[in-house]
Amino acid sequence: EAASLSRIGLAGLAVMGQNLALNIAEKGFPISVYNRTTSKVDETLDRAHTEGQLPLTGHYTPRDFVLSIQKPRSVIILVKAGAPVDQTIAALAAHMEPGDTIIDGGNEWYENTERRMVEASEKGLLYLGMGVSGGEEGARNGPSMMPGGSYEAYSNIKEIVEKVAAQVEDGPCVTYIGEGGSGNFVKMVHNGIEYGDMQLISEAYDVLKNVGGLSNDELAEIFDEWNKGELESFLIEITADIFKVKDEHGDGELVDKILDKTGMKGTGKWTVQQAAELSVAAPTIAASLDCRFLSGLKDERVAAAEVLAAAGMKEEVGTIRSGIDKKRLIDDVRQALYASKICSYAQGMNLLRAKSVEKNWNLNFGELARIWKGGCIIRAVFLDRIKKAYQRNPNLASLVVDPDFAKEMVQRQAAWRRVVGLAVSAGISTPGMCASLSYFDTYRRARLPANLVQAQRDLFGAHTYERVDRAGSFHTEWTKLA
Ligand code: NAP
Repeated sequence: EAASLSRIGLAGLAVMGQNLALNIAEKGFPISVYNRTTSKVDETLDRAHTEGQLPLTGHYTPRDFVLSIQKPRSVIILVKAGAPVDQTIAALAAHMEPGDTIIDGGNEWYENTERRMVEASEKGLLYLGMGVSGGEEGARNGPSMMPGGSYEAYSNIKEIVEKVAAQVEDGPCVTYIGEGGSGNFVKMVHNGIEYGDMQLISEAYDVLKNVGGLSNDELAEIFDEWNKGELESFLIEITADIFKVKDEHGDGELVDKILDKTGMKGTGKWTVQQAAELSVAAPTIAASLDCRFLSGLKDERVAAAEVLAAAGMKEEVGTIRSGIDKKRLIDDVRQALYASKICSYAQGMNLLRAKSVEKNWNLNFGELARIWKGGCIIRAVFLDRIKKAYQRNPNLASLVVDPDFAKEMVQRQAAWRRVVGLAVSAGISTPGMCASLSYFDTYRRARLPANLVQAQRDLFGAHTYERVDRAGSFHTEWTKLA
């Protein structure tokens, strides 16, 4: 009978699904849950019981699950991206009716969402691709959510997602993103930006540790301090905590015992591929991806260090460290990190803008910055400044030329250049900071050496060139004149 039906359903009860389902139930929306492997249904029921008698019912077949939800039905799917999503949709859609909605909450490739959207509409079903960020903790207590697709489908779940999302002073961290796969695309770029942030923070750590000679205790203290200022963010906060954790299997801190090989699941790579596809420069995000690739070559790096040492390579970092003014270095690195971060976000936002134009998504960049202020991994005080920059000028060409950010970049550039210069001389690689600084210097220069590249292209390929002093397209017989 209608009275006992659930308001919404969720299928896929791994880390994300289980926690999001409990969050939804806790906000007072009765929810049905289902998982292919049914032991996870029981696990979720147990948690719903122990975490406060939450209104959650477990179901063991797709049919029972779907029929337990009130019409028009909204079903969130949180399974592994790719084929598992297709299989789950097939199992559930067999029991759904026209007007019902499927919401894929996974990190899905946006074109898969657009394909499924068409397939769903052939059955009269509505579809949303909704990126969810914030990991386990966010899903349970308030994530940032990026729903894109059918606006009608969004209207059906708006009251739920607005309550379930992280709450910041200017509203819940969720908004309707746009049509098609825009929600997945925005989540993908969010993850690319996250790669950039993590890389830049790891470089700050590398410089402070290896050039500055700072201990883990000192690093913890500095990151705690930074988290009270312009860099205040989730990633800076957890980094401070990481430095404090002792190794339970030996002396010192755990961070020093972790193998220097970074894993990845693909959203960073997709971001860089899309940037190239759309001819948008995203060097900081690309550098962070490249660093993950290089980190994976641990054996090769160990071997290379040996070959180069045998070839006579000397580490200069020791000599440089002895002449360092620690206090100034710490302050410089903070500024370099902040300026580098602005450039990285400028790249991510410009990638979103290029895609928005291509797909007619009409993305609202101020709103995107706002819903990233809470719940998600890149949440930071700084995002409020990005929101305001786009509110001041929705057509801003780049964050770098927003008047406030421009001032901040100029104020920090001396420190930024000192850090990058020092790292280069010390042989401590800072690919993210270097990429950001080169991006800034390339973008801000009114004249680049691209004139020479054009001349070369015209010489060997008759590709023609334009002139600075007269209109038209020109070709020169360079070799005859040389
Ligand atoms: P996951 O490890 O990506 O996937 C496990 C879930 O997928 C299980 O419920 C599993 O069911 C189900 N599954 C796998 N293959 C299936 C198939 N062929 N048919 C039906 N179900 C299948 O889970 P997750 O980490 O919770 O992530 C879910 C989604 O959210 C992913 O797209 C992920 O990228 C995204 N995401 C994850 C995080 C995070 O921090 N983990 C953060 C943001 C977004 P069984 O139990 O039956 O195997």
